[in-house]
Amino acid sequence: MNCGEGIDTRQVDELFINLDPIQAGGRLTVDAMKAVLAYGDGYSVCDNCEKPFRLDCIKKPPLAKFHEDLAAFVNMDVARLVPGARRGFQAVSDTFVKKGDSVLLTAYSHYTEFLSVEQAGGIPHEVLADDRHIITADAVAARIEEVTHTTGKSPALLFVEEVDYQYGNVHPVKEIARVAHQYDIPVLCNGAYTVGIMPVDGKDLGADFVVGSGHKSMAAPAPSGMLATTSEWAEQLFRTTRIQGDLTGRTFGVKEVEMMGCTLMGVTSIGMMASFPHVKKRVQEYDKHLARCNLIVDALCSIEGTKVQSEYPRRHPLTRMNTSDSFDTVAKVHKKRGFFLLSALRERGITGIIAGSTKVWKFNPYGLTDQQAQYVADMFVDIAKTEGLSVHTP
Ligand SMILES: *Cc1c(COP(=O)(O)O)cnc(C)c1O
Repeated sequence: MNCGEGIDTRQVDELFINLDPIQAGGRLTVDAMKAVLAYGDGYSVCDNCEKPFRLDCIKKPPLAKFHEDLAAFVNMDVARLVPGARRGFQAVSDTFVKKGDSVLLTAYSHYTEFLSVEQAGGIPHEVLADDRHIITADAVAARIEEVTHTTGKSPALLFVEEVDYQYGNVHPVKEIARVAHQYDIPVLCNGAYTVGIMPVDGKDLGADFVVGSGHKSMAAPAPSGMLATTSEWAEQLFRTTRIQGDLTGRTFGVKEVEMMGCTLMGVTSIGMMASFPHVKKRVQEYDKHLARCNLIVDALCSIEGTKVQSEYPRRHPLTRMNTSDSFDTVAKVHKKRGFFLLSALRERGITGIIAGSTKVWKFNPYGLTDQQAQYVADMFVDIAKTEGLSVHTP
């Protein structure tokens, strides 16, 4: 079977346990898959669009309600659907960063956060992590002081990742936001790895903006995501159009400028909405998902020479390992070189780590069952033993 010439059916999650770091939280639920089929056509959510003609006001399917639910889900006041977390960053930067403004980011900020600053003409200033790979409130305070001193103006915005993509570490957003607010700097909490995976309480964190990724962490089709804010900023961020055609005199109602009017008009919004009840449930079961991750990390660390580079015990399933002194010693003499590891995993029905990497690599076991997690743990140990590495029993 294929989907037309040159387009094979993709069979990854059907055939393997997939540990791909960026794919785990975006796997569709069965309801989302049904939604994909039923709402695949372009503007499929627009059948019953009525005045004021905006996506977040559509009652059938219940998109208006979904927007309210999303805001409540992250404990913020107002939410909008956006085509990916990046478009959330873009809307915030475009609204609050003027040309030449300083913007604080971190050593772990995603490239799309940088690009949003670039587009707005802002100047990036990074906050470095400490030696535990954590961005601390002290480091943020020091950088604010330094940037304010050297530029004569405090930064216009601060980006902080609740969980970063390099180590999967949880950063102290609440303390960081408290510091930033002492300098009147609004805080964007990047929840690309958290919203839809673990409970996120934007008000408790002190975030002015919470951004989530539908296709990374909310079991939704791409490109999808959410941008939430407080009533303090909503009017500015979601300002409506004022422009007018000079000859026709046309105006454009209540379309929101940063949203380009409407955002996710079909499969993306419905897919996200179909998964949402499941997503709400799974964040409540976060501890179980973490326990499964820690089980696999423990098994890996029982292989002599293996180290976990992320914080441990794990507080998020995205995990960075260092196997320079274990699997990489095998790679040096193996006929498949560095490819032996992925190859051995695939023979055992597991995939998703980068081909050829046996030194530092990441995996994300989010969403596995207990049985699957135990199987993955056993298979890492099995591969180690097969290749003659020593394994200590805990
Ligand atoms: C994946 C990722 C993004 C981008 O998310 P999109 O929804 O694809 O735009 C942003 N920030 C971090 C930390 C990420 O890991």
